Amino acid sequence: MSECTHDCSSCSSNCGERDMHVPGNAMSSVKRVIAIVSGKGGVGKSTVTSCLAAAMNQKGRKVAVLDADITGPSIPTAFGVHEHAVGDGTNIFPAETPSGLKLMSLNLLSANETDPVIWRGPVISGVVTQFWTDVLWGDVDYMFVDMPPGTGDVPLTVFQSLPIDGVIVVTSPQDLVSMIITKAVNMAKMMNVPVLGLVENYSYFQCPDCGSKHAIFGESHLDDVAKELDLPILARLPIDPSLAKQFDAGRIEQVEHNPLAPVADLLVEQHG
Ligand code: ADP
Repeated sequence: MSECTHDCSSCSSNCGERDMHVPGNAMSSVKRVIAIVSGKGGVGKSTVTSCLAAAMNQKGRKVAVLDADITGPSIPTAFGVHEHAVGDGTNIFPAETPSGLKLMSLNLLSANETDPVIWRGPVISGVVTQFWTDVLWGDVDYMFVDMPPGTGDVPLTVFQSLPIDGVIVVTSPQDLVSMIITKAVNMAKMMNVPVLGLVENYSYFQCPDCGSKHAIFGESHLDDVAKELDLPILARLPIDPSLAKQFDAGRIEQVEHNPLAPVADLLVEQHG
């Protein structure tokens, strides 16, 4: 087999059928790995990842978040974690929120949170793989991976390297029209990873005065697309300025009506 050039268009190998997973941290046990993906950036993938992780943690499960969105890492911001992660020469210790949720993100290792990451794809994928192998995660029931956006080289390598048990696809009403969502779903299918369902963000805005709902980004086609792809709709999130405020203030664990709580319930129902 020739060496992987990460250019699938010129390669006849079917990577979905090959096990290219890298071994996890030798001193950790992670029961389920769930990746949160989106066809493009800015649709709310990190918001969904952090809300889902917080909801699962509140249900008493041992939860970790691996921030694989290396060029746009916002998981530490959502949880209000800013101190540097440390290591002992063998392992890197994840950051931990006061409620015990474990995190690892490049932002916890960078000298300066505002430094841009100007690395090429293979280097970025290598860092994600190291987060999987070198971080002392300990015992984890659910690890949520905030994936790099899109369907390019980096998400592809992450898909191949990590033993992902299932994928949740985050979309916005515009994505559905442009078929971006179908590409994200097909990528998971090509990697033989089950798609657990769809989450639509920015679905509507509910007027705080009269309660009427407005489709700011146009009418959703989610029902049709879900039917076409034969996937369940897990949640529809409104445009909620208070959610954005909590996220930016590092208070995602304090969100009162966590919109992903029903999805955490469903996962626990299905997988314990
Ligand atoms: P992605 O991870 O897809 O790039 P983020 O989750 O970082 O997207 O969200 C981008 C921005 O939009 C963030 O500032 C976030 O707080 C805000 N945002 C996400 N979802 C919502 C929502 N439902 N209502 C209001 N603001 C939101």
